[in-house]
Amino acid sequence: MNEIILLKLGELVLKGLNRRTFEDRLVANARRRLQAHGKFKVYTKQSTMYVEPQSEDCDLDGAWEAMTKLFGVVGLSRARACAKDKDAMLQTAVEYLGDRLAAAKTFKVESKRADKSFPMTSIQLSQYVGGELDEKYPNLTVDVHHPELTVYLEVRDYAAYVHADPEPGAGGLPVGVGGRAVSLLSGGIDSPVASWMIAKRGIALEMVHFFSYPYTSEEAKQKVLTLAKLLTPWCGRLTVHVVPFTAIQEELRRKCPEELFTVLMRRFMMRIAEAVAQRCGAGAIVTGECLGQVASQTMEAMRATTAVTTLPILRPVVGMDKEEIVRIARRINTFETSILPYEDCCTVFTPRHPRLRPVLGELEAAEAALDVEGLVKAAVDGIERVQV
Ligand code: ATP
Ligand code: MG
Repeated sequence: MNEIILLKLGELVLKGLNRRTFEDRLVANARRRLQAHGKFKVYTKQSTMYVEPQSEDCDLDGAWEAMTKLFGVVGLSRARACAKDKDAMLQTAVEYLGDRLAAAKTFKVESKRADKSFPMTSIQLSQYVGGELDEKYPNLTVDVHHPELTVYLEVRDYAAYVHADPEPGAGGLPVGVGGRAVSLLSGGIDSPVASWMIAKRGIALEMVHFFSYPYTSEEAKQKVLTLAKLLTPWCGRLTVHVVPFTAIQEELRRKCPEELFTVLMRRFMMRIAEAVAQRCGAGAIVTGECLGQVASQTMEAMRATTAVTTLPILRPVVGMDKEEIVRIARRINTFETSILPYEDCCTVFTPRHPRLRPVLGELEAAEAALDVEGLVKAAVDGIERVQV
């Protein structure tokens, strides 16, 4: 087994993040994602992470797929290891990258030498291997500025590695380096995208779903669990806190003006989310709200929902158009599930004429008729936790 995966680390220098924290987290996340694909050795050196199979039955394709979704990685390539010898490297380039060498018109060779005892300089090594390849493949000419194909040779401590251009990685920061947040996951298109965007910035997530059985069905809940599961290749293992929400909605319908229903309901969601955040040490709430999309997504409505919590509410898709959100939803593979036709708890109770610009005083007056604390406590006590 002499093929490995090389991963280029992301933007740690810019972020003022401690390099060790970044690398340790990235390695830990990588190890966890690789578990399903066999036994791998994972370590970092000089802004590169190495993933090396430790036995013949390792599934390198599966490992590669998993690593393309690892936040904190900007680029990745598969590389073939060989002896630290110029002809061995040339031979490996021919065998390993033969198809690409035969298809390209222009190329260059770039060498890196971490092992300073290697008898050639990196320039000499590039010139030697480049010259030989140029001769062997009549289709190729050298272009050092804009080559179609770059052949990389890396002379490291224990071996040399040959690989071609890296493919783009998932980018972002390793999940967990930025702390933890609770993400409100509905069955729609926006909230899985919002969750993904925040996880990408290094935040570990706890998912919260408000479930209005029997107004919303068991299938609707399953759909949300499926969405959470689809996010795990990026976010890691997730817990979905399923909150029984029916009692609150029925109480609101009984006692409060219908046109305020949506905003009042969202204020309860935030209170409950804050309670969950407290329990699991989360420092923010994430939602898929987008300005102007629906009645509860005006600035005034956002102000009214924000007012019940002191936690920051992160709304990463707030300024995006639907098409932009859909593009990401397709890319992360949640779109097809999001558009499955199950009702969600908001649509069931949607007022005919929702108030677009709710006034805080009015909302508070409406809530005076309710046992807010008791309702929140009952909902939190009734939470079912599902691991996906
Ligand atoms: P989405 O496509 O994410 O469902 P939406 O356009 O349908 O969003 P709303 O229904 O107003 O918008 O919800 C706005 C946000 O509130 C959602 O993105 C989600 O973060 C949260 N939310 C709404 N309903 C629920 C629910 N049943 N459980 C958890 N979070 C919810
Ligand atoms: Mg929705």
